[in-house]
Amino acid sequence: MTAAPLTYKGHPVPYVAAWSSEIVPLPRVCSAPAGLGLVGHARDVDGVLWKPIGIRQGVGRPEYGTVHGPRQRRCMRRLLCQVCGQPADRDGQGVLWLLEDGRGERGWPEGQVTTHPPACRPCAGAAARLCPHLQGKVVAVRVARPVVDAVYGQRYVPQRAILRPGPADVVLKSDPAVRWMLGTQLAASLLGATVVDLPELRAEVPA
Ligand SMILES: [Zn+2]
Repeated sequence: MTAAPLTYKGHPVPYVAAWSSEIVPLPRVCSAPAGLGLVGHARDVDGVLWKPIGIRQGVGRPEYGTVHGPRQRRCMRRLLCQVCGQPADRDGQGVLWLLEDGRGERGWPEGQVTTHPPACRPCAGAAARLCPHLQGKVVAVRVARPVVDAVYGQRYVPQRAILRPGPADVVLKSDPAVRWMLGTQLAASLLGATVVDLPELRAEVPA
């Protein structure tokens, strides 16, 4: 199996990006006794209701701005690279994560919560260029104890018989509020996080 990401018109397409053929209409949302309901869809074993999406990677054109939920979640659960889908890099300090520079914040990056999966070494430079939130401000971090324990998605607010879309949010799987969320991605808490120098990224950040 090759570690190279798929390409479209000569450009690499991240593993977690959705393709146009995968986008499906959202079934009707409804208020059910257990929380938010989606006609024809059930909660997973953790009680999370996930937004449906097709699985046809590489078919159609890439939707760079849309994360493919099932592939993102696979990356988080198995600690796979968000660009190529192969195992993320790991050394004695932990798994390689690329984050938007937050070194101005006290305590950063310990305990940061992120929906962006980790990366492998060969993809680190490409990830820094492909991800808009990392461009020009990427920092490499090693994470000893990533804890994948939260859901990112759309909250819904039940008001009498009407369900109103609320804000996008991150909610712990253990929080009862997750029952009113239409989940799309898993979020990880980065524990035991250490900023490291990654030579591959030196060209990606202005001196
Ligand atoms: Zn990779």
